[in-house]
Amino acid sequence: MRSDPSWQTKAQQGFDSSNFQIDWDNEKVNCPQGHQSTKWLLGQDVSGKPVIRVRFSGVTCRTCPVRSSCTKSKTEPRELTFLPQVQHIALQTRRQTQKTPEWKATYNQRAGIESTHSQGIRRSALRQSRYIGLKKTHLMQVFIACALNLVRLDAWLNGIPLAKTRSSRFKQLQPQGD
Ligand code: SF4
Repeated sequence: MRSDPSWQTKAQQGFDSSNFQIDWDNEKVNCPQGHQSTKWLLGQDVSGKPVIRVRFSGVTCRTCPVRSSCTKSKTEPRELTFLPQVQHIALQTRRQTQKTPEWKATYNQRAGIESTHSQGIRRSALRQSRYIGLKKTHLMQVFIACALNLVRLDAWLNGIPLAKTRSSRFKQLQPQGD
């Protein structure tokens, strides 16, 4: 999962949604200063999926000593938008899991398999089956895997080094050293 898109998470300071305690049964949220939300509204995000919007008291937030860590609004109180309970808990759990060394070690394997996919797609049109039916498609994949092994064996025997990771054209415009 991508990380929380809030400015607090990006800046690694301030209070993002994980700093708030949600009381699902009573439809209340406690902020890091111990204040309780005053509004709990069911709504939809831009794609029509259900979300919950929570708002805190304007009076409380305006006089809060840590307001700048909570909201960039000059006058409005803190608002939060989060997913319904099951999805929210699953999302938070996954984000926490993704921070562990064990998860990172497992995910690092993706870099290797991604390069294999890339080679198969560019060299052998692996992305799309040329045949109809799972059996023929599977056979095609086995042949492509064999062919890639031969290509790699040939490269290894002839001392051809691994290609460098490519960067996008936009990235290539960036001055060296940045
Ligand atoms: S700004 Fe409002 S919501 Fe944020 S910590 Fe202060 S009182 Fe709580």
